[in-house]
Amino acid sequence: PPDSPQLGRATWTLLHSIAASYPSSPTPTQQSEITQFMSLFSKLYPCWVCAEDFQKYMAKDKVRVGSRDEFGKWLCEAHNEVNRKLGKKEFDCGLWEERWRTGRKD
Ligand code: FAD
Repeated sequence: PPDSPQLGRATWTLLHSIAASYPSSPTPTQQSEITQFMSLFSKLYPCWVCAEDFQKYMAKDKVRVGSRDEFGKWLCEAHNEVNRKLGKKEFDCGLWEERWRTGRKD
């Protein structure tokens, strides 16, 4: 179901994997595409209460897409905001690339 932890976990996996494959020096087109993707994602994520909060977060902390590192850190911080809301442990964003790109196990 749309509010299940499975969907959340699968979705974070997709989003962080997209960040991991985002270029370190993206072209203006790539920056525009990832910005549009995140904006549409925040409207279409099927857990509506989650999506609503995520849109509010994106309105106050605008998505940063200047490089892989910038986007990866922004996404990590956005994920931490949800972690805090749910009473989960915060993730050390200094480790996001190791976790999602260079392959450290959970
Ligand atoms: P998840 O939070 O799904 O994380 C998966 C893995 O990512 C972790 O095991 C860890 O290895 C890694 N990780 C954890 N934190 C970070 C981070 N900050 N940066 C990088 N990697 C990290 N659920 C609700 O109940 N209410 C909500 O309002 C809600 N909003 C959501 C909004 C969005 C945009 C998304 C994608 C999901 C949302 N969820 C929400 C689902 C919730 O965030 C979790 O996905 C779900 O509770 C399952 O949690 P989990 O413990 O399996 O780990």
